[in-house]
Amino acid sequence: MELSCITGLGKTRIESLNEAGIFSCKNLLDYFPKKYYNFLSPSPFAPDGTYKMIKGKVIAPVKVSRIRKNFSIVTAKMIDSFGGEFSAIWYNQPFVKNALKENTEYFVYGKDAKNKKNSLMVSYFKSVDKSEELSFFPVYKNIENVHSEIIRKSIAQILEKQAYSSQISPASCETFELMELMEAYSQCHFPSNIIDLEAAKNRILLEKLVPIVYMSENSKKLGRDERKHTFAKIDEIYNEYKQILPFVLTHSQMTAISDIIKDLESNQNMNRLLEGDVGSGKTAVAMFCLFVAARNGYQAAMLAPTEILATEHYKLALKMFDGVNGVNIVFLSSSMTSAEKKAIVNKIKTGEANIIIGSHSIFSKSVEYNNLAFAVIDEQHKFGVKHRANLLEKGENVDTLTMSATPIPRSLALVFEGSLDISILKARPHAQNVQTNIVGKHKESDMWKFVNDKIKSGSKVFVVCPKIEEDDDYTLSEQSAIAVHKYLSSILNTEVALVHGKMKAEETNILFENFKSGKTRVIVSTTIVEVGVDAKDADIMVIMQASNFGLASLHQLRGRVGRDGRQSWCFCVVPNDISSKSLERLSFFKKNTDGFKIAEYDLESRGAGNLSGYEQHGLDSNEVWGYSIDLFEQAKRIVSYMKNRGETIEMSQELYEGTVGKLIESVAMN
Ligand code: ADP
Ligand code: MG
Repeated sequence: MELSCITGLGKTRIESLNEAGIFSCKNLLDYFPKKYYNFLSPSPFAPDGTYKMIKGKVIAPVKVSRIRKNFSIVTAKMIDSFGGEFSAIWYNQPFVKNALKENTEYFVYGKDAKNKKNSLMVSYFKSVDKSEELSFFPVYKNIENVHSEIIRKSIAQILEKQAYSSQISPASCETFELMELMEAYSQCHFPSNIIDLEAAKNRILLEKLVPIVYMSENSKKLGRDERKHTFAKIDEIYNEYKQILPFVLTHSQMTAISDIIKDLESNQNMNRLLEGDVGSGKTAVAMFCLFVAARNGYQAAMLAPTEILATEHYKLALKMFDGVNGVNIVFLSSSMTSAEKKAIVNKIKTGEANIIIGSHSIFSKSVEYNNLAFAVIDEQHKFGVKHRANLLEKGENVDTLTMSATPIPRSLALVFEGSLDISILKARPHAQNVQTNIVGKHKESDMWKFVNDKIKSGSKVFVVCPKIEEDDDYTLSEQSAIAVHKYLSSILNTEVALVHGKMKAEETNILFENFKSGKTRVIVSTTIVEVGVDAKDADIMVIMQASNFGLASLHQLRGRVGRDGRQSWCFCVVPNDISSKSLERLSFFKKNTDGFKIAEYDLESRGAGNLSGYEQHGLDSNEVWGYSIDLFEQAKRIVSYMKNRGETIEMSQELYEGTVGKLIESVAMN
C-alpha cells in the first residue's frame, strides 16, 4: 500500500510527509503520537494551574471580542459534567466561534487562564462524538501541511487495510509470548487502556532491537563495500594538515585520526561514527577528512544540520585552507539567489570545487558531483535516513564520517559493537569550568540581577526557551522565546537579540555575528543553539523551564558555554512545583559533566515500565522510544533462540540505519 492510496493524502501532503522522512505507509505507522488525551474520565473545572480534560456543554451564545488589532478572544460559557460553570476561552482564533454550537457537548482540554477568573484556556477541543468510542485519543506532532487529525485518520486507514509481518520468527513470538505486531501498532496509535499501551510499546521496541542485536552478533558490517577510491600519501597529507592547523591536536583527536587513516588504507569502505561532547573538537577531525580527499583529487562534502552551522563550517574551512594550493571550497545555501546557486552547482559538476559545504541543499536533485568520495555528516540525529542516503547516492561507495555529540551509553555501545565503528573524543581541548545551578521560579529575579551585573563586566549570555511562541496547540506560553525576549528587553540594560528557527538564515547569521563580536551580549532563542554557534567566550547559559528538556539536550546546551575554559554558569530555571523525579534528574545533571555518565543515567532511570509521564498530559512520544536494559536483554534472548533454530533475519541498509538513527535520536531527545 502506497501513501497515495490513503484517502485524504494528496500530492502536497505526501510531499510534506516525504520532507519529514515519511515515504511509506510503514514509515507513517512508525510516526507515534506525541501524546494521548484521555476522554474516559473527564475532570471538573478547577483553577489550579494544571491541564485537564473537561467534558462540558455550551450553555450560552458564543462570543468573540476584539481587544485590539490582531488580538481577539472567543468565549463560550460552559457547564462541566459535575455541574460547575466556567468560561472556555480561545485567544486569537475567531474562527472557533463558528465551530461551537450552543447546547452541545464538547471535550475541552486546557488549563485555567492566569488573568481571567474562572476561565479555561483551551488548547484542544472536540465535540463529544458518540460514534467514536475512543478512550485515548492520539495527538501527533503536526507536520507542515499535515495536521495531527489527518495523520490520525491516515494511520487508521493503514491499520485497517495493511498488515506487516514481524522480523521475529513466529516460533519466537509464541515462545516469548509476544503481542502480535499489528496489534501492537494498533495499540500504540489507538490504545484501549494504559496497560496494553505499555506492552505494545515494548513490543514495537523489540521489533526494532532484535535485528540490531542479531546483526551485531553476526558482526556483519553494513554500509561496507569494497573500496573504490584509493587514498595515497595519507601520512604526508596528515603532516601538512598539522602545519595548517592553528593549534596542536589533542591526544583524542590524534587517536580518532589514526582510526580514520586505518579505515582509508583498508580495502573496505569507511563508515565511522565520531562521538564527542560539544566542544571536544570534532571539526578538526572532519576537516582532516575533507583535506585528504581533496589532496587525492576527489571531492568531499560536509553536511550540516542547519544553515547557521554550515556557514560556520564554511567560514572556518576558508580561513584554515586560505592560501593552501589545490583546495577549492564552496558553500551552497538554500537562501542563495538562483544565479549564485547555478554558478556553484556548475563548479561542483565540473570538479572545480573539491570541498563542498552546506545543509540540505548539497544533496538536492539539481546538484551533480564530479567525483564525490567522502562525506562528513555533522549531528547525525538531525537527519533522516533518506537524507543521508540522498547524499551518499551522489558518488560511488562514498566513505563517511558521521559526527554526533550524543554520547551512546556504554551498555548500548556494546550492542552496536561489531556493526558500527566508533571513535570517541574523550578529552576537550579546554577543560570546561561550568557551575550549574537549579533556580526555582521564586529566585528567578535574583538570577537576572546576577546576569545583569555579569553583562556589565563583559559576559555573554544565551537564554534558551522550550518554545518560540505557542504551547503545542494554540495558547500563548509565558516560557516562549518571544515572551522571555520581551521581558528581558525591559529588565536588562542592554540590547537583547531574539533568534528562532522560523527566521531567515541571513537574519540569524547577522544576529550570531553580532553576538560573537560582542555587539550584542544576550541572545534569547529556542534550542536552535543546541547545535553549532561557536561563540568561544559565551559564559552564561540560562535554560527556561529546564525540566521540559531531556538530559541530553541540557548537556548539549551547557556545552555551549565555557568553551575557552573560563569560569561559566549554567542556570536551569524550574517551576516551584517541580516534581521530585524531575528535580532528582536535574540534580544529577548539576553534579555531573561527563556526557557518557549522563547518558548512562538517562538510560537506567528511564525504564520502559515507567508510567509517571502519564497524567492528564498523556504520554510523551519520546517514551515510545524509551528503551530499557531489560528490553535489550530480552532482545538478546530472542536472538539466541532464533539462532539456535537456524532462523535468520534479513537486514536491509534502511532498516539498519533507520534503527540505529532512531536509537541515537531517542538518546538525544530524552
Ligand atoms: P565540536 O566537537 O563541538 O564540534 P569544535 O570542533 O567546534 O567542537 O571545537 C570546539 C572549539 O575548540 C573550537 O573553537 C576549536 O577551534 C577549538 N579546538 C578544537 N581542537 C582544539 C585543539 N586541539 N586545541 C585547541 N583548541 C581546539
Ligand atoms: Mg560541532
